[in-house]
Amino acid sequence: MQFDTIVRGGSVVTPAGTILADVGITGEKIAAIGPSLAAGSNTKIIDATGHHVIPGVLDVHVHLELPFCGTTSADDYRTGTRAGARGGVTTLIDFAIPYAGDSLNDAADAWMKKAEGKALIDYTFHICITRWNGHKDQIKGMVDRGFTTFKEFMIYESEGWQSDDRAMFGTLEKMKEYGTMLLVHAESARVLDELIERHHTPELMKEYGARLHAITRPNFIEAEAIQRAIMWSEVTGGKLYIVHMSTAEGTEIVKAAQARGVPVVAETCAQYLVLNDDVFAREDGHLFACCPQLKKPADSARLWQGLKSGEVSVISTDTCTFTREQKAMWGGDWTKIPMGMPGLETLLPVAYTAGVLDGKLTLDEMCRKLSTNPAQIRGLYPQTGAIAVGSGADVAIIHPTKTLTVSPETMETNADWSPFEGWELAGFSRTTLSRGEVIVDDYKVVGKEGRGKWLPRTVEGMRGLSS
Ligand SMILES: [Zn+2]
Repeated sequence: MQFDTIVRGGSVVTPAGTILADVGITGEKIAAIGPSLAAGSNTKIIDATGHHVIPGVLDVHVHLELPFCGTTSADDYRTGTRAGARGGVTTLIDFAIPYAGDSLNDAADAWMKKAEGKALIDYTFHICITRWNGHKDQIKGMVDRGFTTFKEFMIYESEGWQSDDRAMFGTLEKMKEYGTMLLVHAESARVLDELIERHHTPELMKEYGARLHAITRPNFIEAEAIQRAIMWSEVTGGKLYIVHMSTAEGTEIVKAAQARGVPVVAETCAQYLVLNDDVFAREDGHLFACCPQLKKPADSARLWQGLKSGEVSVISTDTCTFTREQKAMWGGDWTKIPMGMPGLETLLPVAYTAGVLDGKLTLDEMCRKLSTNPAQIRGLYPQTGAIAVGSGADVAIIHPTKTLTVSPETMETNADWSPFEGWELAGFSRTTLSRGEVIVDDYKVVGKEGRGKWLPRTVEGMRGLSS
C-alpha cells in the first residue's frame, strides 16, 4: 500500500492499548498501524520517535465570538481554532444560540457564518433551545439537518437564554423520541438570584470584591440543579449530559443516578481540576470569573476521582475568552464581570501534565476523556476520536516530558492573559494532523484558515454513554 504520510516510530495510543508502531495515512484516513510500514517514493515521513502519538482532541464545549455579558468573546474562529490546533485539538463543538426572534435554523446559520472561511480545524455546534414554545417544533428539523445535541441553560434569564422545568422536561421527552441528547447548564437560578441580591451592596463589594462570585454560588447551587435535571431525565428516559460539572456533590449525584440506570453523563473542564477559588482573592482575581465558578481543592479531587472511576466522562474547556480590558468592565462589581476564560490551547497540556504526569490518569485514560468519549457521545466516532484503521487521521504528537511556559505572548489565543500563566506544561502538540494534513509543525501553526469543515452528525452515530 502506498501511504501519503507515515508517522514513524511513536508510542501510539490505540483503542486496543498503546503500542510502538508506525501510522500509515492515505488521503484523510488512517490506512494502517504496524511496525516498519514501507514508504513509497512520495511518502512524507513524520518522525515520532520518543513521542506519544495520540488521537486528536475534541473540545466539545467552546464559545467563539459569543456576544455575552455586554461584550463579545475575544477569540473568533480564526484565533480560536489556531489555539486549539496548537493544543492538539482537531475538532471543536460550539453552541449556536438563537437571539431575539431567531429560529434554531437561524442560530445554526449564524454560527456557520462565523466559522466559514476562518476555521483551521473541524467543528460543529450544539443547538441551544432558549424559547421552548417557539423552538419545540423545530428540534426534529435540526436533527434532520445533522445536529444531534441540544442545550438548555437553567440560568441566564437576563440574557434571554433560560429554560424552566417545563422546557427541560419537554425537551428530554423529545430527546428520548429522537435518540438525541440534551446538554444542561445546571445551576439553580432562583436561589442564585436571591444570594446575588443579598450580597449586591457597596459595602460587601468593597470588602470582598471578586470573592463574591464564589460566595454567592455555594456548591448546592449546582447540586440542586443537577439533581432536578436528572429527575427529568429519569422520568422521561431522555439522554442528559451535564456540562462543566464543578462540584463533588454533583459528581456524587451523577454517580448515584448512573447506578440507577439514568441515561446521564457528565463533563468537567480543565480549570475545575487544577484551580480553586483562592484565585478570587488575588488582585487580578476577577479575571478568573467563569460560570460556574472555581470551587475548592476537595471538589477538584473528587472530579479527578470521577474521571478515573467513570462518572465523569469528558474533559472540555468552556472556552469563552475575554481580554483584560474586557474583564475590566467589572469596575468592582462582580455581577458585571464578563464570565469565561481561554482554554483551547491549554486543555491537552493541563490534562497531560496534571493528569498523566501527576499519576491521576493513565495516558490511555486521558485519551478516552479528551478524544474517544467525546467523539462517541457526540456521534463523531470512529470518524474521529481514535487512532484506528479507517478513522480520520486526526492526530497529535506530544513529547513525554518537554515543557513550554504558558505565556500569552507566544500563544495563538487573542487573550492577553491565561489562567495558567507562567505554568510549565508538557503536552503541547509538537505536530497536529487534521484529516491527514499537518496543521501544527514544531509547535507552530502551519495550516491554513478556512480548511476546517462542519461535521454533520446522525443519530445512528451516537454511541451509548460510555465512561
Ligand atoms: Zn459554556
